[in-house]
Amino acid sequence: MKIADIRAYPLKTRTALVRVFTDDGIEGIGECSPMNVAVMCHFVETVLRPLVLGKNPLDVERLWDAMYFGTYKLGTEGTQPSAISGVDIALWDIKAKAAGMPLYRLLGGAVRTTFTMYKSIGGGGDMTPAQMLAEVRKAHELGFRAVKIRMDWRYQQDVDPAKDLEMFRLCREGLPASTPLSFDANNGYSVATAIRQGRKLEELGAYHFEEPVSPTNYAGIRAVADALDIPVSAGEHEYTRWQFRNLILDARPDLLQPDIVKCCGVTEMKRIAALAETFDMPVLPHQTQPSIGNAASLALCATLPLSTRPQEFTGPRPDLDELFKEPLPFTNGQITLRDCPGLGLEIDEKALAKAVIS
Ligand code: CA
Repeated sequence: MKIADIRAYPLKTRTALVRVFTDDGIEGIGECSPMNVAVMCHFVETVLRPLVLGKNPLDVERLWDAMYFGTYKLGTEGTQPSAISGVDIALWDIKAKAAGMPLYRLLGGAVRTTFTMYKSIGGGGDMTPAQMLAEVRKAHELGFRAVKIRMDWRYQQDVDPAKDLEMFRLCREGLPASTPLSFDANNGYSVATAIRQGRKLEELGAYHFEEPVSPTNYAGIRAVADALDIPVSAGEHEYTRWQFRNLILDARPDLLQPDIVKCCGVTEMKRIAALAETFDMPVLPHQTQPSIGNAASLALCATLPLSTRPQEFTGPRPDLDELFKEPLPFTNGQITLRDCPGLGLEIDEKALAKAVIS
C-alpha cells in the first residue's frame, strides 16, 4: 500500500481537516489544532505531504519520524506538531481500517468504550457569575453529567479572583452534588493567588483545578500542586514527549493534559500516555475538537487504565456532525465508541464540499 495523496481543507466549522488517500482505496482522516486553519492546511500540503507521499501508510511511526525530524527546524511548538497531528491521526485511521478493527483495538484494546463527557464552558472572565450559571444549567439540560468552567483571562493575571470564586460557588450550587464541576484558571493566577484560590476551591468541592499559573512556570505549577489536595492539571501547552518529560519531572501536576490534535497525533500521545502512567499521573486530555479530534482522543483514552475521569467535550455541533455519515453519538452525557474499523467516521462528500472555505 502507498500514500497516493494528502489533502488538507480549511473548513467553515473552524476545522483543519486532513485526508490521506492510498493507492488501494483506503482513506484516512485527521485534523489539526484549529488555531489557524489556513496555516495548518498550508503546512500539511506544502511541508509534510512531500515527506510521506509514495510511502507505505502502515509504517506510521517511521512516517512520524520523517515528518517530525524532517521539519523540526520550523519550530517544535505550535504549527509543526499540530500539522503533524492531522496527518498522523489519518495514518492511524488507515492502519486500523486496513486491519479491519477499531483504532482502540489496534492501540492495544479498550478498558472502556463508553465515556462520560464533561461540558467545557469558556469565557468566564467576560461573564457575570449569573451568566455562567445560565450556561452551566444549559449544559445540564443537554444531558451533561460533568462540567468545567474556564476563565479565559487572556494573559492577564489576578484580575478578579473573588469574582471567580463567586462564579464557581454559584455554579456548584446550581448543579446536583453528583455532577463534578472543575475550574480552569487558564493560567490567570500568580502562584500565591493560585494557592489561596485553590484552598477555597477545595472547600467548595471543585473536581480538578486546571492550569492555575503560567504554563512556562514549572516551579510555580509544582508549588501549587504541592500546596493543595485538589488535583492540579497541566499540559495543554506541551507538544511532545520531551516537553511532557520536563513537565512531569519539574512541574509535577496531578493530571496531564496532552491534546491529540496538538501533540503530534496518536503516535506521540501514546508515548506521552506511557510516560504519564509510568509516573502514576492520569491522562486527562485537553480536547476542543468535538468530531475527529475527539474520536482519536477517546480511542487512545479507551486503552488507558488510569484515564477514568470524564473527558473534555465542547458539546454537540450539528454543523460538524453533518460532515460525517454517522457522527459520534452523544446521549445522556456519554459517548460510546463504535465497534467499526478506524476512527469510525466517514466523510459525507456533499457536506464537505459545502463546508470548505474556497
Ligand atoms: Ca484548559
